[in-house]
Amino acid sequence: MQTIDSEITSNDHSRYAGDFQSWLQDTLNAFSTGQGASVPCGDCKACCRAGYFIPVHRQEWSTRAAIPARLLVTPPAHCDDGNYQLISTTRRGHCALLKQGACSIYRERPQTCRDYDCRLFAASGLLSGHGEIDQQIARWRFHYGNEESRRTHAAIRATAGFVINHAGAFPEGRVPQRPADIAVVAIKAHRVFLDAIVQSGAPETIAKSIVQACRAFDTTARLAFRMTPTA
Ligand code: SF4
Repeated sequence: MQTIDSEITSNDHSRYAGDFQSWLQDTLNAFSTGQGASVPCGDCKACCRAGYFIPVHRQEWSTRAAIPARLLVTPPAHCDDGNYQLISTTRRGHCALLKQGACSIYRERPQTCRDYDCRLFAASGLLSGHGEIDQQIARWRFHYGNEESRRTHAAIRATAGFVINHAGAFPEGRVPQRPADIAVVAIKAHRVFLDAIVQSGAPETIAKSIVQACRAFDTTARLAFRMTPTA
């Protein structure tokens, strides 16, 4: 697993990622509500060129209407639950809807594209494994309004590092493997690494706290979502 140097200094290629605490709050809200992220991508299209097959849910009606049927393909049988189709890619590994350097269905782009925020990797100190996206990840620079904000960021990185280095401490060694999934766990459970008492415990105790923190977050998010007025 590749990680980024937490002390990379700013340079001409740096990009402002926003105030860290605000970003974290927005990200936690996005995890809870599924309403996507607002990412200052600028002219970066790295994730559209990364060879990802973008899933489109069968209920994303307006998105599906905007995509030519020939560009939607059925997933391989082992991961086809009947709910999604995938946007095909070009021979160069670009999304088939990327035209002249821009998304040709931007206003109707899939939820997956709206959700994708490569600052997740930057916040958790991880790289995605896709060269062009990783260049962008290494450019992000957060602003910290206070020391607490820096401590929170350090806790997210520490949680990600723990998940990577102590897989055996988790029940049956079951931990996320993909960098994006590790980043999500680190953000949901980072408070574990703000607690000095928990941190001084055995790896199994810390792992249990991380699992509990993720479950508590997911439960709270579900409840909040159910209680959100619809009108
Ligand atoms: S649908 Fe648009 S935003 Fe999503 S990967 Fe394709 S070009 Fe990029």
